[in-house]
Amino acid sequence: MSQKSVSGPHERVLPGGALDRRAALFPGATDGEWNDWRWQMRHAIRDASTLARLLPLTESERAGLDETAALFRLGISPYYLTLVDPKHPLCPVRMQAIPVRQEARIRPGERRDPLGEDPHRPVEAIVHKYPDRVLLLATDTCSTYCRHCTRRRLTKGGEAELSRGALKEALDYVRATSTVRDVLISGGDPLLLSDERLEELLTPLRAIPHVEMIRIGTRIPVCLPMRVTDSLATLLRRYAPLFVITHFNHPKELSAEARGACERLVDHGVPVENQAVLMRRLNSDARIIRELNHECLKARVRPYYLHQMDVAQGCEHLRTPLAKGVEILEALRGFTSGLAVPHLAVDLPGGGGKVTLQPDYVVERRAHETVLRSYRGERIAYPEPEDADCRCPYDEVWQARAR
Ligand SMILES: *Cc1c(COP(=O)(O)O)cnc(C)c1O
Repeated sequence: MSQKSVSGPHERVLPGGALDRRAALFPGATDGEWNDWRWQMRHAIRDASTLARLLPLTESERAGLDETAALFRLGISPYYLTLVDPKHPLCPVRMQAIPVRQEARIRPGERRDPLGEDPHRPVEAIVHKYPDRVLLLATDTCSTYCRHCTRRRLTKGGEAELSRGALKEALDYVRATSTVRDVLISGGDPLLLSDERLEELLTPLRAIPHVEMIRIGTRIPVCLPMRVTDSLATLLRRYAPLFVITHFNHPKELSAEARGACERLVDHGVPVENQAVLMRRLNSDARIIRELNHECLKARVRPYYLHQMDVAQGCEHLRTPLAKGVEILEALRGFTSGLAVPHLAVDLPGGGGKVTLQPDYVVERRAHETVLRSYRGERIAYPEPEDADCRCPYDEVWQARAR
């Protein structure tokens, strides 16, 4: 397959034209440079004065850049910057990439470690909260630093790859913990590791007999799609079952390049799922989430979670009330494909883990029937069976089989 975009007939020109923006912002870049992820990383925008030369900034953004400079990292890939609407301060890409004044304010209830991960780190690079799966923090570096990052306590200060010692310690922990059947590699963005470093991580992980599956949490398809080369996709496929979990938050992010990156992964046999974060005034509307999920599915990316915003420091201006997410799910269920309806997850402050919220369709429970409401609002009775014994006798045979 060629390295060119493999987009299908739903090709669509973005308003503002990403190509025109590239010519305006980075006129000197050749196609070869532009499509080279290392060129993109070398030319990432990392300070306010460079950004101000490329984009007219609002007063709030200038204050945000200034006041958050010592608090959180700034980094925007040239590619992602071309998706920013230069004329609208509430452009969803812009809101995710450029800090505003409110980001420097820490609000009541916000925490440095919102998900209470640090007490669950048996070794530096592992967060172990759930019985059968762990999070492995492979790097603290990203191609673009999200203004809503939940792990911003780790992505501040100087950038650093996981040392070989910390990686070995993490692998030793997984090897010694036989209940771990699922390893989620995140960070930072693991796909910023070189192919060689990725193999150094994936090969020993795959060799652990109780590790049934691997997931990679990455924003590369969204912010640096040129990193998804044929050789990367081929590499990832070799470690199947391996799922890529990406992070699109708005349909505007599904450019031809981003869709091409997702399709390249899927074409090579790597399933891709999406975790979106619900953000106030950015995507906090059922119409937007529906379009986002439809655009993902068209690129063969399955919407997995819609996350309620975590209580990370400086993010309150992006948080929605819990009821908004439920309202959005209610507007999706029944009205569109079930595949376009993600789980609405709340990762509980302090380390309780994720729980899901959903609209309540039960109207009334009676002895022999339950009354529910349909997505259209009709009340409909579901008759309960007389016999409620749900034991499965064959399971003894199944459990005892020779493996
Ligand atoms: C989210 C998360 C996981 C994975 O959770 P799933 O619900 O299985 O996707 C695992 N470990 C940690 C610490 C997490 O935050």
